[in-house]
Amino acid sequence: MPKDQPILDTSPKVSDEVRKTTCYMCACRCGIDVHMKAQPDGQMKVAYIEGNKDHPVNQGVLCAKGSAGIMQVNAPSRLKAPLKRVGPRGSGEFEEISWEEALTIATDWLKPIREKAPEKLAFFTGRDQSQSFTSLWAQGFGTPNYAAHGGFCSVNMAAAGIYTMGGAFWEFGQPDWEHTKMFVLFGVAEDHDSNPIKMGIGKIKGRGARMVGINPIRTGYNAVADDWFGITPGTDGLLIMALIHELFKAGKLDLDYLARFTNASCIVNEDPKSDQNGLLLRDSDGQPQVIDKNTGHLAPWNGQGVEPDLASTHRAAGVTHRPVFHLMADRFLDPKHAPEMVADATGISADRIKRLAADMAHVAFDEAIELDRPWTDFRGKKHAKMIGRPVSMHAMRGISAHSNGFQTCRALHMLQIVLGAVETPGGMRFKPPYPKPATAHPKPHGKVTPGQALNGPHLGFVHSPEDLMLNEDGSAIRIDKAFTWDNPLSSHGMMHMVISNAHAGDPYKIDTLFMYMANMSWNSSMNTTGVMEMLTDKDDETGEYVIPRIIYSDAYSSEMVAYADLILPDTTYLERHDCISLLDRPISEADGVADAIRWPVIEPDRNVRGFQSVLCELGARLDLPGFVNDDGSQKYEDYADYITNHIRRPGIGPLAGFRMGENGLTEGRGDSNEGQIDSYIKNGGFWVSHVPEEASYYKPFNMAYQAWAVKMGFYDSEQPYIFTPYVEPLRRMQLAAEGHGRVQPPDHLREQVKRTMDPLPMWYAPLSDDLIDTSEFNVHALTQRPMAMYHSWGTQNAWLRQIHGLNPLYVPTKIWEQHSFADGDWAKVTSPSGVITVPVAHMAALNENTVWTWNAIGKRKGAWALDEKAPEATEGFLLNHLIHELLPEKADGMRWSNSDPITGQAAWFDLRVKIEKTTTPAESQPVTPAQKSPVGKGPKSQAWKVGK
Ligand code: SF4
Repeated sequence: MPKDQPILDTSPKVSDEVRKTTCYMCACRCGIDVHMKAQPDGQMKVAYIEGNKDHPVNQGVLCAKGSAGIMQVNAPSRLKAPLKRVGPRGSGEFEEISWEEALTIATDWLKPIREKAPEKLAFFTGRDQSQSFTSLWAQGFGTPNYAAHGGFCSVNMAAAGIYTMGGAFWEFGQPDWEHTKMFVLFGVAEDHDSNPIKMGIGKIKGRGARMVGINPIRTGYNAVADDWFGITPGTDGLLIMALIHELFKAGKLDLDYLARFTNASCIVNEDPKSDQNGLLLRDSDGQPQVIDKNTGHLAPWNGQGVEPDLASTHRAAGVTHRPVFHLMADRFLDPKHAPEMVADATGISADRIKRLAADMAHVAFDEAIELDRPWTDFRGKKHAKMIGRPVSMHAMRGISAHSNGFQTCRALHMLQIVLGAVETPGGMRFKPPYPKPATAHPKPHGKVTPGQALNGPHLGFVHSPEDLMLNEDGSAIRIDKAFTWDNPLSSHGMMHMVISNAHAGDPYKIDTLFMYMANMSWNSSMNTTGVMEMLTDKDDETGEYVIPRIIYSDAYSSEMVAYADLILPDTTYLERHDCISLLDRPISEADGVADAIRWPVIEPDRNVRGFQSVLCELGARLDLPGFVNDDGSQKYEDYADYITNHIRRPGIGPLAGFRMGENGLTEGRGDSNEGQIDSYIKNGGFWVSHVPEEASYYKPFNMAYQAWAVKMGFYDSEQPYIFTPYVEPLRRMQLAAEGHGRVQPPDHLREQVKRTMDPLPMWYAPLSDDLIDTSEFNVHALTQRPMAMYHSWGTQNAWLRQIHGLNPLYVPTKIWEQHSFADGDWAKVTSPSGVITVPVAHMAALNENTVWTWNAIGKRKGAWALDEKAPEATEGFLLNHLIHELLPEKADGMRWSNSDPITGQAAWFDLRVKIEKTTTPAESQPVTPAQKSPVGKGPKSQAWKVGK
């Protein structure tokens, strides 16, 4: 050994203790090991964060966001104490107050509303993960005006999946990474479902499986795809229907699967004069009928031993009934869906479309998988093997955030279904407690009784016009007008319409807007400048704000903080209890049901409280049912107490693991267990229970899965179902528009309902295209969050903002050359509702008629404790200024919501702009004046020593 070799400690002690909890730097909810070091005073501090190797979601993988969590919990932008507004709304001028004063103010504001008119409270939450809890609170309050952010995020994806198959992608389902041979991504932003998809792609690439990306922008996952289709925004439905057309033409359909496991075999009334026209024929028990191949006669869809026929028709009382499959063939074999007919609009050549369809068919049918796993279906038929069609898909907001997004997402599920590639080996698999059909979910509720709880959960799935949230005079029950004829199936509410409707007093005025983690005065709103004006607008007569009171909870000094009258400061994710619950948006994997917790691995060093704990106390002060004991005392001391002791239905609580049974600890169903959270902590912060092997595929139809699901408490009795490529509730809405039934749409909406609410997937151009000059506004404009900040709350993170401190507008080669752009140039970008001036950058791997930028990099001066000269505040910008929450005026002078007319999903990606080269301004335009920072400005640099 050389004599002057330095002595290195190759295994230094990196921490004094590891505390295992759940990441919240994005919505994937990976397990993390938080390494703690003792300070000289004995206090423990976070030293660094790594992935939890045992965790079902990430198996030890940690992304850049996850490791940057340490900067999030030390961010200078953290709110420090409750705040009361002292300057004009929007100014950012506050004074710190005590929690007692804050809760007294909130109680004084809310109590009279509850006693007289609970609907005057609009309570909407953003990207939190406690909706089963916050909705319970709102239900107890009695307001119908509650929802989370799904309406402006991806409700089209979720609703289309649940109405069609009983589940969608991401939290509901995943590709069968172990077996898939072809993985196709539609409209998935570059870091959606971050670690799980990256791990999955790594797996399939490792064994040579093929990956196809369909997205106008080639970044992130699409950049590593073997094949990329740079589709024109808003035309995904056209492409998908052309693929289905090709499969029908070639006869490459899984007919056995369609007959047995979907309502393609159910028969439909074809009498145009009947009020049953287009509905499924049902028996006296209300069960849809099929024709049994064994007997040639009618039989219920679920009859024991029945072999449903896809071909035969049924004629009774002079009326012909045809199987849904016939209607599917009529629809998809229509020559208008031929690849040649859609090539121009989609920007994908007919040859490439045909090749893609042929490749899918080849993998599905010529490379089919057979697993030697016997299973029994709900008709009692025993299957010796599990047959797999190894084509898997994943899709998200890119295809859903359009006004035609619901039907596009439905078309995608139709494509999966005709291939037989859902819940079969190699295809898409659901994650327990999904699948669960729309009929197993609640319907929406909205009956208001002053001083009492609402009559049921706010959100749900409507099945007929009678389920809509309408008053007798046809006016909307809800402030966001969800579940009305404008957007009948708005299962997640319409958060993006709350502020403009409340400001307009349409359908009525509200008293208090109460929001959590929703940056509505900035990047979470369309028409950002307009929203800021609405939040600060005063009534000419009274001089009072039009929206009289705003309460807001956030952990950070976001732009929205300045617009609130009362701030309830939240904790960071390492300082709080949370449950990632099966009642909410769980973290299960296809092979196992799982839930998880967060717990305070560090104590807050500021006067802040977890928002959910604050709701426990506020609920008690307001005497909300479910939040007080019989003697009127506070029921749940804090959120941890709620997580442990709340019982949703007998044996079922927020956490399914480590419950108390007759003989000790149990899972799924069981009593509360005072030691439950400790058990989770000892287990690494999560609980998982594996799906039995014979129940692993065909879950909706597989009796072994059904029995396991009942045992685990997902539902109380076995309820197998079939997929519904034909969605009857849509047809019921059309029937109403045709003049049938008691509840009918207003005349101005009849044509829209008839046109869009087709029970089979179809495509129509984005609604705004009919209202603007598309030859003038001939460029599509999109946004996506950057990989390093995808689904992250705040971009002030000191490490992550070094990756993305500003955002150019990316311009494709054709437009770049048309305008003779050069590096460093700026462009004026105009939409029908606004103008921005921004820096441009060239990008070749982009649809030739599309520009795009990162969302939410641009910050308002004074927010997030950033310097007013920070690049985020000078060169960063928002595309939101170009998007309006209302469509341009129609011929009748009316302006409709910029949403999908079926679900109300915000149509962010229907945006069209025109672009011009311009001189370089001092800063991105428009410049919004600075707001005062309630937390001051962060230091130039941050450094601290952890440990002794
Ligand atoms: S940021 Fe998201 S993907 Fe990354 S470790 Fe955290 S939860 Fe997982």
